[in-house]
Amino acid sequence: MSLNSPAPLSEPKQLASDEEYNSWLKSLGHVKYNDDWIPLPISSDQDARLRITALSLGSLDMEKHYIAYEEEPSHELLHLPDYGFIIEREVDGKVVNRVLFDLGLKQVDQPMKEAYKKSQEKFRAKTGKSAPELLQDELKLSLEQIDAVILSHTHFDHIGDLTQFPASVELVLGADSPSGQELAEQLDVPMSCLEARTVRILNREKDDWVKIGAGWSAVDYFGDNTMLLLHCPGHYKGHIAALVQHSPNNWLIFGGDCCHLHTQLKDVKIGVFPSFGNQKRFTTLDYDIEDAYISLSRLSRMEQEKNILVFIAHDELLHKHMNSQGQVTRLAGDEKEFNRLKASVS
Ligand SMILES: [Zn+2]
Repeated sequence: MSLNSPAPLSEPKQLASDEEYNSWLKSLGHVKYNDDWIPLPISSDQDARLRITALSLGSLDMEKHYIAYEEEPSHELLHLPDYGFIIEREVDGKVVNRVLFDLGLKQVDQPMKEAYKKSQEKFRAKTGKSAPELLQDELKLSLEQIDAVILSHTHFDHIGDLTQFPASVELVLGADSPSGQELAEQLDVPMSCLEARTVRILNREKDDWVKIGAGWSAVDYFGDNTMLLLHCPGHYKGHIAALVQHSPNNWLIFGGDCCHLHTQLKDVKIGVFPSFGNQKRFTTLDYDIEDAYISLSRLSRMEQEKNILVFIAHDELLHKHMNSQGQVTRLAGDEKEFNRLKASVS
């Protein structure tokens, strides 16, 4: 069910009536995803490993009813961190690829289009250093050392400021993402910023898709099965997640905005429609609620595996367990760390 498209960016939507909500619930009876587990691929290059660094790129404080179940309306605020990630692929201890997954919020004091300014104000955005500042100041990297920026989707709290990256940095988006002028508007950048660089939008026909895990269609990004981009529609057009190898037999999924609270991986309907208590306010942040339901169901199935952990972009639960010092957390990438993080959400 597509809600009166096109969805305005980050504007919560409401179903008009009980009937509309009930018909959605009924339709879920026909919604199916592949229940058969398809084993995850094995890395084809035994000398390759990924190093993952989490970047805390601001936060939002949102009224609870946008993202969580409430019996009664309240003005309680939920604090949501906003994560991006650096993924470095090392072969024989040498970094051969370096990409970013999501750029978080644009700095609150930077110029931005009116709609984004309003969204930032409405959700009480706060920002510290941007991803480019952290790369240069804290990690002593030049921006030329970044191969690509991969965006889970093009909402205001994930796109950062692409103009800060040199033209050598490729932009990668999921299948069905907007392109051309529409993309430039959504990223709040001039067309020249896109024309100057390679923009790769995954393609249903041209890319090589494999089926994995809970029935995902995936693209093997590095060509050695260490990182797969998962077609994950629903929250927004072209939404993707990334399955990345954390340690030899353990995986993280960067789940973007498939849901906004980790607990919703156990309660998928509330993940799609946060409020359906006595108030009957069926609010959703998702663009296509059936697709969102399927994607979140798949993610929930993945999280049931002992060796898979989902990091959603606004994961407050994980935030507390990252031993975060400042904005940059470099993951150790060993079994012990994976087990500690997994235990923190079970
Ligand atoms: Zn978000």
